[in-house]
Amino acid sequence: MVENKNTVPEEKEVKKLNFLEQIIEEDLKNPIYNNTILTRFPPEPNGYLHIGHAKSICLNFGLAQKYNGLTNLRFDDTNPSKEETEYVESIKEDIHWLGFDWGDREFFASDYFDQLYEWAEKLIRDGYAYVDDQSAEQISKNRMTPQEPGIESPFRNRTPEENLDLFRRMKASEFKEGERVLRAKINMSSPNMHMRDPIMYRIMHVHHHRTGDKWCIYPMYDYAHGQSDYIERISHSICTLEFEVHRPLYDWFLDHVYEEGTVRTKQREFARLNINYTVMSKRKLLELVKDNHVNGWDDPRMPTISGLRRRGYTPASIRLFAEKVGVAKRDNIIDMGLLEYCVREDLNKIAPRVMAVLDPVKIVIDNYPDDKAEEMEVINNPEDETQGSRMLPFSKEIYIERNDFMEDPPKKFFRLAPGREVRLKGAYIIMCNSVVKDDEGHITEIHCTYDEDTRSGGPASNRKVKGTLHWVSAKHAIDAEVRLYDRLFSDENPDGHKDKDYKEFINPDSLQVLTNCKVEPSLKDTKPLTHFQFQRLGYFCTDKDTTAEKPVFNRTVTLRDSWAKKNK
Ligand code: ATP
Ligand code: MG
Repeated sequence: MVENKNTVPEEKEVKKLNFLEQIIEEDLKNPIYNNTILTRFPPEPNGYLHIGHAKSICLNFGLAQKYNGLTNLRFDDTNPSKEETEYVESIKEDIHWLGFDWGDREFFASDYFDQLYEWAEKLIRDGYAYVDDQSAEQISKNRMTPQEPGIESPFRNRTPEENLDLFRRMKASEFKEGERVLRAKINMSSPNMHMRDPIMYRIMHVHHHRTGDKWCIYPMYDYAHGQSDYIERISHSICTLEFEVHRPLYDWFLDHVYEEGTVRTKQREFARLNINYTVMSKRKLLELVKDNHVNGWDDPRMPTISGLRRRGYTPASIRLFAEKVGVAKRDNIIDMGLLEYCVREDLNKIAPRVMAVLDPVKIVIDNYPDDKAEEMEVINNPEDETQGSRMLPFSKEIYIERNDFMEDPPKKFFRLAPGREVRLKGAYIIMCNSVVKDDEGHITEIHCTYDEDTRSGGPASNRKVKGTLHWVSAKHAIDAEVRLYDRLFSDENPDGHKDKDYKEFINPDSLQVLTNCKVEPSLKDTKPLTHFQFQRLGYFCTDKDTTAEKPVFNRTVTLRDSWAKKNK
């Protein structure tokens, strides 16, 4: 059930409560909640966070903020073979960057290993769990299919004493991996496959990033997750739709440990965020990184939070996006254009306008004195007066964009051509007289004359000309590298092909590196992640690879809001 969601909700529309807010408002009438809620964001530290996680972060922290509550950050570190401390650090950095803070409410599921173990023993003593000697394959096979009852394990009716003894010996490292597991004793013919005696513990002789070698049995996610929520007294556990079918199991576990009078965690599910032209699973993102299809987790083409940050997305733009996406109960795919719309909205307000020429061709103004240089005062951001103005040097030789000139233009070409005039933004009106070419016919210089009276603010500055160009003074400009990005995949739904791997749709032209760009001198030594609008070209930001010798900029997004136009 994939549908395209291409509309921005009306700005003025009175916001109705979403279904989660409705549930919470209803719950808060019950005094047990004490007028407050507690949510959590529970990442597994096995990769970097992506924009889907950002949605979940904004939702969990946002609901808590709205309802006078708090949010726990809990690392779901129950699978030691895939988890690394590097990921823990990156996750914290990304959440803070997005603008959310969990204070000292930082937890790890592994903090609860003792409690979870105790509860497992209780389940065994109460006859609700048993040690199974079958192999994982056998167990999985005997679950059968939803249409037929599963086959009970021959070890299902061991006595609690025997189970307790075996479980303790599992913990004491007496067995090899795969030799035994602990299973919940529920119902082998339930139509819900998750209820067919799910595995609670498996043996793993693996070092854990926090508990070291203390444990050689580890709880399964399905056993640990709901109990961890309850241990923390999470009031509302909000997760993605695929966990809806796990909910009866979480409830079953909780029934066996719940203490009267305590807040019982309520799990509710919303549709996970999908965006077109990208993939959103950590496994696949990891694969793209490991196989060098991209340059690391923070490659600006990645849908990771660190990638978006490096690309020039702002926290505000991502929060706006999360808000516009809303919460749905049905899976859908959001247009990448909505994300781009959101970053334009924010950058338009905050990014100073500057001059950069990506594919320069030289203009010589023949009637401008050789050694003269002027300073033109230009406004930094017409959307925000407080950003003031700056001085931009002008001289006899300047660069303009090669495609802003045509020797033999069609009628509707309003930029520079022989015999035509254009305005140089913030400077003069110039007229093209002739061109100089090299032996191969490439234009190397365009010769123009300027009209002194047309200087910005001067007597003839209001004269009508059709085109206005951006430019930089040749002797003042600095060299720069500019990286242009396109979509990482050329297919709208790279994940959606049954017989083809998503990697077959990687866009070979997703990165274009321009090394001969010329930018105005004020862009010297800008710090990584400084945002600009390169006039007429788009929004850009300084990359982390930037140096004093060679500034490097990433294009965040083009200026043209093709997405909004399409929907007008
Ligand atoms: P992935 O499928 O990308 O590996 P995951 O669900 O395994 O993601 P977790 O670290 O377990 O990753 O996710 C942490 C939280 O983020 C969970 O509550 C999960 O529901 C939520 N989340 C993950 N992906 C999305 C998404 N695309 N949209 C919304 N929420 C998401
Ligand atoms: Mg998960």
